[in-house]
Amino acid sequence: MKPFYIGAIDIGGTKIAATIANQNGLLTRIIQPTLKTGPLSTVGEQAIALLQSACAQAGIDYSTLHTLGVSACGPFKKIDDMVGLATPNICGSTNNLPNDWTVIPLEKILRDQFSTVIIENDCVAALMAERTFGAVIHETDCVYVTWSTGIGFGLCVDGHILRGKNNNAGHAGHMLMDNQSKAICGCGNIGDVEALISGQLLCQNAASFPTFCEQNPDARLMAQWFGRALYNIVVTLDSRRFVIGGSVWVNNHQWLMPLVEQEIKAHLPVLTDDISIVSASLGKLVADIGALTLVMPPEWIPHWQLSKPWKNLLTQ
Ligand SMILES: [Zn+2]
Repeated sequence: MKPFYIGAIDIGGTKIAATIANQNGLLTRIIQPTLKTGPLSTVGEQAIALLQSACAQAGIDYSTLHTLGVSACGPFKKIDDMVGLATPNICGSTNNLPNDWTVIPLEKILRDQFSTVIIENDCVAALMAERTFGAVIHETDCVYVTWSTGIGFGLCVDGHILRGKNNNAGHAGHMLMDNQSKAICGCGNIGDVEALISGQLLCQNAASFPTFCEQNPDARLMAQWFGRALYNIVVTLDSRRFVIGGSVWVNNHQWLMPLVEQEIKAHLPVLTDDISIVSASLGKLVADIGALTLVMPPEWIPHWQLSKPWKNLLTQ
């Protein structure tokens, strides 16, 4: 049998990662800052160039790579029934970025190169990775949450992953929370969850907000807002487990965990008293492994579940 390879791209507001894998595991991973100048095709072409470099690095003929999974930060907008990126921290038509892009025709650009292309929101991809290889394997009613520069959700109800009309289900970081607040989100909302607690906010206020820790009352309030957002998800979806990742969570989960759980369980116990929270187990690779999971042949999965071929990359 000829060797079979799959590719993955993870597109974020600050970086793009390309990964190549075969049945035995991850062969190579390359990361670059996301390009934000040039024609509308720039990001799609950057993804293709990165995959070409990754193939070269792994000693693989690029022309044999036909299958690509993509995780990307949203929101998405359909163009001719194909996924386009309308991501505010990449597309500059409504902000200060050095381009006038409104919607990047990502799927169209990638389909010119690959016979199989599957694109999902990065939190949906992360949810699929954690349900296949991580902390919530086979869990039917679970939610992936990232708390980093943004707040995002991947939602699974009755074993079905929710997507919505434009594959934008899970943008609940933009749920409105506090109409007394003056905090503005990148989306333009005032007082939504992301405006109140995002990692970007923590960076901007680093001088006046030096320690995001349990002793800091503002940090405790942020933990409460986060818990309240999770409560709103539980009462909407009847979820059982949350699996949480992202840099803010990863660096603070020990003290955040009890506060967030307490906030969820402080309301409507009949719906909330049996929920549990776990930390994501695939760390910084969760979206990359998620993108691979989108296109992975099912017969690879048991071997990967046993051998965990991402372990070495996680500790680098
Ligand atoms: Zn927002």
